[in-house]
Amino acid sequence: MEFNYSCSQCSKTFAIRPELTLCPDCSKNQAEDQPLSGVLEVELHGAASEGFDVFDLLPVEAEYFPPAPVGNTPLWEPKNLREHTGFHRLFIKDDGANPTSSFKDRASFLVSAFAKKFDIQDIALASTGNAGSSMAGIGAAAGQAITLFLPEAAPAAKLVQALQYGATVYRVKGNYDLAYDISLEFSQRKGGMNRNTAYNPMTIEGKKTVSLELFKQLGQAPDVVFVSVGDGCILSGVYKGFRDLLQLGLISTMPKIIGVQAENSSAMCRALATGRFEAVPTFTVADSICVDVPRNGFHALAQVKKFKGSLMTVSDEEIIQAQAKLSASTGLFTEPAGAAAFAGFLKTLPELDPQASIVVLATGNGLKDSEAARRGINVPATLITSIDDIL
Ligand SMILES: *Cc1c(COP(=O)(O)O)cnc(C)c1O
Repeated sequence: MEFNYSCSQCSKTFAIRPELTLCPDCSKNQAEDQPLSGVLEVELHGAASEGFDVFDLLPVEAEYFPPAPVGNTPLWEPKNLREHTGFHRLFIKDDGANPTSSFKDRASFLVSAFAKKFDIQDIALASTGNAGSSMAGIGAAAGQAITLFLPEAAPAAKLVQALQYGATVYRVKGNYDLAYDISLEFSQRKGGMNRNTAYNPMTIEGKKTVSLELFKQLGQAPDVVFVSVGDGCILSGVYKGFRDLLQLGLISTMPKIIGVQAENSSAMCRALATGRFEAVPTFTVADSICVDVPRNGFHALAQVKKFKGSLMTVSDEEIIQAQAKLSASTGLFTEPAGAAAFAGFLKTLPELDPQASIVVLATGNGLKDSEAARRGINVPATLITSIDDIL
């Protein structure tokens, strides 16, 4: 396989090298409070058979991979849910089973390998929590130094996780958007690699592995995929994996991808309707998809339009209810952002074909934010002292 970069806006191609992050031409038109201009995609050239190895479709050689078992996450066949809903080809892809318990490990894995290949020891990033704890963990496995900028509202577990892995953590008095800007400036001044989502092309490329795995696990592409959307990198990554499979002739149609956002953090949905991105302050119980300006907004939206995907919103109440329903009916406890995708499935159910094969991406483990999960349950208020208190 051969690989190069291609600009998602002007289609100019470039050799892959670590200093190049955005298209030098298109990024000149970067407007304030707007998604990134000139996001680069990886293009592959070559052939592969059905039995391909997922790693062979990545643009960094296996010798540089960090020693952490990322990906190959379980595909659940939820029996009770299938019976309750009548959807007998419903699957849940449990990406909370990754080493640091979120989907972000797919991106961190490839970024770590990319840095290693070019002898880069320092990696910096901003994160709402999961990307940071992920890069910290994968970096620890690879022996790399991670500097993380974390907004003050990040859930405690994600902060603790990053510190446990030995990252240098700066807590930002402000939101993710401010942390993002500070981290970029840090990298520009201090050097090293920056792993910010969409800015580093390996983030989207690493995330494509989920689609390649789904193809392998199902023996074909699913009909529909539900995915929660914040910055839109997972969404683009899911598309990229299936696009590679289309290009290689291994599948013949693009699955329908349904992106799910929180009602009060829905920049992508609004942009699909209005044609433009507006930075409005956002809030949602699903911290991992709480984003004012989706960094990968232009790129992700273009994919949705081109491949006739769709975008929808769910309320925080629907997310919290869906989270508890998924836990209690399947035994899979996912964080609110992961539950948002499931809430999207539940809300769309009447319009879906019950014969279709449907995958819901559960993007993070529920223990990452147990405070949020308390909202969907009743914690017993009284304490008992003996069996007589309950019988
Ligand atoms: C980051 C994240 C998302 C959203 O991914 P984007 O690429 O920002 O759209 C969804 N779920 C979880 C658990 C995440 O950590």
